This record gives sequence, C-alpha cells and structure tokens, in this order.
Amino acid sequence: MVSRIHAEVLGQGACYENLRVLCKDIGARLSGSPEADAAILWGAKVLEAVGPAEVRMQPVVVPHWERGAPEQAWMRVDGGEAEPLRIAALGGSVGTEGDLEAEVAVFRDFEALDSLGEDGLDGRIAFFNRPMDPLMINAGSAYGGAYEQRSRGAVEAADHGGVAALVRSLTHALDTFPHTGGLRYSDEVEQLPAAAVSTVDARRIARLVEAGHEVRVGMNMNCVLYEDKAQANVIAEWTGSEFPDRYIVVGGHLDSWDIGEGAHDDGAGIVQSIEVLRTLHALGYAPRHTLRIVLFINEENGNNGGKTYAQRARERGEWHVAAVESDAGGDAPRGYSIDASDLGTEAVRAWRDGLAEYGVGDMRRGGAGVDIGPLKKEMPAGKRPLMVGLRPNSQRYFDYHHSDRDIFENVHERELKLGAAALTSMVYLLDQLDYESLD
Ligand SMILES: [Zn+2]
Repeated sequence: MVSRIHAEVLGQGACYENLRVLCKDIGARLSGSPEADAAILWGAKVLEAVGPAEVRMQPVVVPHWERGAPEQAWMRVDGGEAEPLRIAALGGSVGTEGDLEAEVAVFRDFEALDSLGEDGLDGRIAFFNRPMDPLMINAGSAYGGAYEQRSRGAVEAADHGGVAALVRSLTHALDTFPHTGGLRYSDEVEQLPAAAVSTVDARRIARLVEAGHEVRVGMNMNCVLYEDKAQANVIAEWTGSEFPDRYIVVGGHLDSWDIGEGAHDDGAGIVQSIEVLRTLHALGYAPRHTLRIVLFINEENGNNGGKTYAQRARERGEWHVAAVESDAGGDAPRGYSIDASDLGTEAVRAWRDGLAEYGVGDMRRGGAGVDIGPLKKEMPAGKRPLMVGLRPNSQRYFDYHHSDRDIFENVHERELKLGAAALTSMVYLLDQLDYESLD
C-alpha cells in the first residue's frame, strides 16, 4: 500500500498545482484578513472536489492585526546621513506613531541586558543579535534556541527603559530579507514597537557598534490591532468503516504571515493534507477509523484554530486515536517525530525499516505540530492521541520562513510530492493500528 501511495502521488499528485493556486491566486493570508477568508473558501472547495468526505466550517475567533502602510526604517552612523534600512514589523507589534529614532545597544541575550540594570537602556533601542546556533544539526532546534529574542524582546526592552526592540532575523542564511513572526507583550510593561532586520544588516550594525561607532536607527511603523474576527477551521470528514466514532486527524495551518506567500509555511502542509484524502480515495481505500482532514486557522498568531478544535473534540467526548501534522516545510521528507506513549512510539517505530525504503526512516521523539498540540492537553489520560509530525529536511526551511522568500517558486515539486506521499503513508499505517492495546 505504501508503494501504491507513492506511485499515485508521484504520478498523479495534485498538491503542487494546488499550492500554486493558493500562493498565486490568494497569497499571504494572515488570520483576520480577507485573504484568509478566501483561503478558507478555497480549501473547502478543493476538499469537496477531491474525495468523498463531508466538508464543514468550524467557527474560530481570531485576532486581526495589520501591518498597515509599509514600514520605513533608516540608520545613521556617527550622526551622518540617514541610509535606508530594511525592517519587518513583528506580528502583533504596536506602531511607532510617527518617526522614532534612537541609539542602538546590541545584546547577545537577555542576561547581557539584565547586567546593565533596571534602566540600562535609558531611551535606546535594544537590538537582540544572537544568531541561530550553527552547531545544532537540526535547524528547527537552532530556531527554538534563538526564538525568545523575537517573542520576548519587546518586553525585555521595555523592562529596561528601552523605546523599541530590534531582532536579528531567525535564519542561518546570510541575506538581506527580514523575517517576521509573533511577539508577546506583557501587561506589566509598556508595549514597545518591535521589528526584525536581515542577517546582513544585523552583522553590519553589530560590527559598527562593536568598533565604537554610534549607530542610531529610525523606524516608522503603522501597525494596528483591530477587533477579533470570526473565521474558521475547514474540516473534511470521511467516516470510518470499522470505527466511525474514533478519529484520525491530519492537517496543517491555512493561515500564514502577511509577507511572502506562505508557501512552505504552511501552504505545503495544507496541500499535502488535502493530498492524503485525494490519494486514499483514488486508490479505492476505505478508512477503518473516521479520517478528518483539518485546515487549521490562526497557527501563526494565537493558535485559536488548534485550541478551538481540541475544545470541541473534548466537549463531544470524541476519541482521537491519532493526530498527524505537516508544518515544517515542503522540502524533501526525512522521517517523522513522534509524540506518544512508549507503546505508541514503539508501534510507529516498527515501520521504520519499511519507510526507510522511501527515504523517511528517521524517527525520533519530539513535538508533532502546533495545531494538533492542544489535543494532547485537552484529552484525558488514556484518550490522548498518538501524535506524529512529518519531518522534512530542516536545513533550508528557515531561509524562507516568515519572509518575502517564502514563495511558491521556492518549493520543489518532487520534494513536496514525496512529503505528501510520506504523510499519506503515515495516515494509512496509523489507520491499520489497533488502539485498544496501545494505552
Ligand atoms: Zn507553520
């Protein structure tokens, strides 16, 4: 069956064309935007067309933040002429209310900022410049190790008397693209504007400051947080032949950031999840458990889609035996991460040699996906799903992630299809398991 799945996806797969439409006809689709509304309608239409599943919308309340008129920035070295600087406001940031210009202080981490004392910034901009650790083999782990600079930098800067936060883009790539992403504010301190600069600019600013120059950065950002909005998860349900009241969910997130096209993050996971339905149906397969393909909304700035889905599942007493997510990009698949009990983990690992033939034998324990994460939290012990995440090659993913480089052209058709086949294979195998014996 795994061989037939690969033949079907590689020969007839529709995921690449679906990704082209999602990226080029709709494009960036941040939660709360009209483009996200369009993506929800598109997803429902495509799911209706490819298989026998019943498609419905699950209402979800999402935040509605807009970048506004494109942000402007500049830098000034030793009081000289202003030169343009490329920045991207972090998602959720407040605007600057006109021009803001201040001297930059560079930090490797929050401890270095702490060492300056409570008012150590004294009206300056805190610039958090720690690169992703190049010694970590998995780029996702390196991202995790640098991530707090972006998520918590504005709060730390406010806590030390700063006026804004800048963060080095979270990527190994040395280039001129700023990468956005979410930040969190605290009720305790003032909300400061925060933005990312490219790795090239980060290096330049840090070198200048290190060499004793005064670097001032100016910013003009027009971000606005509006009232929450009603959007939806799209759910396609295919009733199981043996266990109609036991669920296997597979999905990714339909929303993206508001720059680029959300091609790798997570257009790839969306079209691969749709491909699971198309492929199993095309092969004449009848799932034993009820299969739900879920296009989650709002992963990037709230995860309200994942939370709402899990809350509804708990309220209805649904038993989700397994949950699978693809949200690590459309690059060539290498294997899977498993978040499950010892018995569940062993059951998945038993397939390792067979799947290794298709290049996806790398199996390790770890997080399976942000959207399906709340299912684990909401479900009572004994009813927690066996969770699996598709793990593509991580090395180039953060080159694109949350930036203008995350476009359709940077997804490779064959690698995307191999990922779809690997995802479908995992769903098929999970459907073959006997879950009574796994807890
Ligand atoms: Zn994502």
